[in-house]
Amino acid sequence: MMGYMSITRAGCAALDAADPISDFRDEFVLPDGVVYLLGNSLGALPRRTAAKVAHAVTAEWGQDLGASWNTAGWWNLPETTGDRIAPLIGAGPGEVLAADCTSMMIFKAVSAALALRPGRNVIVSDSENFPTDQYVVQGVAQAFGREIREIGPQAPLEDALGPGVAAVVLSHVDYRTGAVRDMAEVTRRVHESGALMIWDLCHSTGAVLVDITGADFAVGCTYKYLNGGPGAPAYIYVAPRHQEAARNVISGWHGHANPFEFEPGYRPAPGVRRFATGTPPVLAYAALNASLEIWEKVDMRAVRAKSVALTELFIELTDHLGLELASPRHAGERGSQVSFRHPEGYPIMRALIDMGVHGDFRAPDLIRFGFAPLYLRYVDVYDAANTLAEVLSKELWREDRYQKRLTVT
Ligand SMILES: *Cc1c(COP(=O)(O)O)cnc(C)c1O
Repeated sequence: MMGYMSITRAGCAALDAADPISDFRDEFVLPDGVVYLLGNSLGALPRRTAAKVAHAVTAEWGQDLGASWNTAGWWNLPETTGDRIAPLIGAGPGEVLAADCTSMMIFKAVSAALALRPGRNVIVSDSENFPTDQYVVQGVAQAFGREIREIGPQAPLEDALGPGVAAVVLSHVDYRTGAVRDMAEVTRRVHESGALMIWDLCHSTGAVLVDITGADFAVGCTYKYLNGGPGAPAYIYVAPRHQEAARNVISGWHGHANPFEFEPGYRPAPGVRRFATGTPPVLAYAALNASLEIWEKVDMRAVRAKSVALTELFIELTDHLGLELASPRHAGERGSQVSFRHPEGYPIMRALIDMGVHGDFRAPDLIRFGFAPLYLRYVDVYDAANTLAEVLSKELWREDRYQKRLTVT
């Protein structure tokens, strides 16, 4: 059980030297003295992003002005960006649209699924899901007069499924614990009951292998592991078999079949484009596309393998500290994060951040560490574990200044 003592910083440096994807770290701006374990919340800044955004501002906007809707491909950004995200979730071209924020895309996916399952009145939601997913499902249920059936620790999915269920909304990777659901198996059971499956991939994209084939809809954000930048567009996946019949209830002109005819009546565009609504935030797409250039060069299997190795190492190095592991111990059931429960989790995280180790805190008692394999090194994991050990052994978290909660935790 004293395995952690045999792990040295030099040993970790050797792992970095042998790491097949270690070069990607150079693609990122990482401040000195910081071990950034918050890439699951806001991914780090790619070096190439500033120039790409500057180009969109000074050349496209500044010189070409409105012509850029055509010449710089602004009008088609939702589809072209979606096509670049698609391979990361096992989807094909024309199946993913990048726009809006995740919450909006959940609204669009759930309301489209309800219309595809007339006569079924129930939406199944997870009481453990990220709150915005639950809030939006509540809003859809209210707006369309539907009923919500919640699953949770005491209410398994099997009990919730039945002939009245139109759609099931679940996260693939749990935002708090990093626990991964068996996507193919859950989708199969949901389909067996006649309902449609909507996956939230926020904590999956760029972190774990995803094969979305078989699911009906999926949504996700791009500012976490994908490093698209704060407020980067979200995305929606619509299975090809639903694209003719699925409707976007927020039927804006950007989803119209022929927007420049300026017809009074709405006619949906063919394909996934109908899930667009209004004018896209072009500068945010510029930042996201800079990052997606990097992802085009990445082998997701290598990312996943390193993610498993980093999280295994962190758990091994911290196991003796007396923290309660909230993440699955078995790597196959764990995303790219490690979470612990501790009643003093909040001040512990504040003390850690002061010492340069950035993770976050999720009420009531969780401290989370995200491991972004593109820019984290094994030595970073070693250093983070040592700092955590120091905060706990010296009880540095007891300082007064760490007790009061900041706005964003
Ligand atoms: C991060 C996250 C979101 C974010 O929603 P936004 O509308 O993009 O702010 C939603 N759901 C889950 C599961 C998340 O992890």
